Amino acid sequence: MCGIFGVSGSSVASGATVLKGLKALEYRGYDSWGVAVRTARNDVFICKDVGKISQVHCDFPDGVEAFGHSRWATHGGVTKANAHPHVVGGVTLIHNGICENYRELKEKYPTTYASETDTEVMASLLAAHFATGKTPEECMMQMAKEVEGRYAVLAFFEGRPGICAARKGSPLIIGRGEHETYIASDIPAFLPYTKNVNYLDDNEMVRVVGAEVEFLNLQSGKAIDKRTIAVPWEAEDATKGDHPHFMIKEIREQKSTIASAINQSNDKLKAAAKMMKEAKGVYAIACGTANKAAMAGEYFFANIAGRKVNVVPASEMSSFLQFVREGTLLLAVSQSGETADVMEVLEIGKNKGAKILAMTNVESSSMARMADVHLPLQTGPEKAVASTKAATAQMAILFLLAYADAGRVNEGRELLSATAGAINDMLNPRFEERIEAISKKLAKHENMFIIGRNTLYPMALEASIKIQEVSYVHAQGFAAGELKHGPIALITEGAPVLVLGDDPETLSNAMEVKSRGAWVIGVSCIHSEVFDEWIRVPDCDEAQCISTVIPVQILSYHMAVERGLDPDQPRNLAKSVTVK
Ligand code: GLU
Repeated sequence: MCGIFGVSGSSVASGATVLKGLKALEYRGYDSWGVAVRTARNDVFICKDVGKISQVHCDFPDGVEAFGHSRWATHGGVTKANAHPHVVGGVTLIHNGICENYRELKEKYPTTYASETDTEVMASLLAAHFATGKTPEECMMQMAKEVEGRYAVLAFFEGRPGICAARKGSPLIIGRGEHETYIASDIPAFLPYTKNVNYLDDNEMVRVVGAEVEFLNLQSGKAIDKRTIAVPWEAEDATKGDHPHFMIKEIREQKSTIASAINQSNDKLKAAAKMMKEAKGVYAIACGTANKAAMAGEYFFANIAGRKVNVVPASEMSSFLQFVREGTLLLAVSQSGETADVMEVLEIGKNKGAKILAMTNVESSSMARMADVHLPLQTGPEKAVASTKAATAQMAILFLLAYADAGRVNEGRELLSATAGAINDMLNPRFEERIEAISKKLAKHENMFIIGRNTLYPMALEASIKIQEVSYVHAQGFAAGELKHGPIALITEGAPVLVLGDDPETLSNAMEVKSRGAWVIGVSCIHSEVFDEWIRVPDCDEAQCISTVIPVQILSYHMAVERGLDPDQPRNLAKSVTVK
């Protein structure tokens, strides 16, 4: 979670540059923020507060280097005192992640603690070692020895020019300018200035002073050579353009993202299909919406390739890790490629000799880099917290892979090309207006239910996540046939039930709830008399779930807007979940 952005180089190292970078990262965490600017006279000026970055009013001095943080609180409430940076002795620190042994370290490094955070304990540790005469690099190495957990940190050390940064588990990317250097949790923060990047790997640190950059191993302190890579993203890709929110922009982009997602290299697909075939068991590991995409994948593999894939939320893998061994295939599905829960399973699996096949939207992400084969989602940056275009891209690639696994990849490609075309036609202003009208009525309800069968069952679960996370309406998804085994007791007069699909069994289930007073909204290819409202979706055959979930995304977006909420930044959430 959390956004980190730093810049070294006197021409650009202003508080305003840092705020702009943080704004681009605000989707990663936005409960509080803080900026530190170091002047040419080596004074450190700090401004921090709770609330949104757009509301910041600070008079920053001119700086030679500066960094900032947008927090997603893990330890300590959302208060000004707990906002980063934290200053102890000669050290100013910002941190993304969790210091797991902070209690023990707090006793070992006592100081007058001003916050309740684990981060301030790390600052105290660094300050204590800095006070004994260690260099900033030596202090960072000492921190790496003593701190348990995952972190990305940026620090100023008093009297030592430059920003020191280190990484273990949480992302940090270096942007190379002509006279200055940027360090950020994600590329969009510095995309307006440079596309040339270095990826910091785990157990590495970097010291930047203006355009001078030195990479070092965090354990041995030895220098490391890094390749500079030019990223293909355009700065405009990471802006809202004419759309009122990122979420609706990204939903609309599905007019073309399915087609780009399936534009995978045949060699890679073959390699991935071979891994599926040779695997001694396949576990699809994902969280949240990606987990629902993986569940759709479970149906694709069963229906198309006759293969059983075990789909487990990454945070629930501990009981099943005993089955992960040499030859097991871990299929990691993630937008960011940094999700801490997934990373942990992959790290354990890799040590046991498991193979890794990853699908992520960030080609340079930790998962992409540790995978044996990586299939990129190719949708361009996704910034709204609620995943939309990445989720449908994940499903499209899983679908293609199931066909590749069945030895019928061309057939899969044709089906998906037809699906991409149908979605392109479906996403038009009139379609959106129709859904907006329904969302206005739905937004008045506090509870609603969603049902679906086969691949539309995971979509019912995904619909409930989407609606809950942006509109805060209590939405619950069920397998259509399960409703009568308990949840039907919740149906009262006027209760909204979203019915995904038009197969006879699901329509019978819809009739069962309608007989008990439910207000039935159908999302399907064919109309039925049981529907009080109907959203028509194109017939996409076995890929039906991909086109069916899109109107539900639109519905949840408009429900949020109707309720006066900001769909891009729902409360308590952050996009790339890099803490456990
Ligand atoms: N654990 C730290 C805190 O609660 C950092 C959280 C974050 O990554 O934003 O302050």
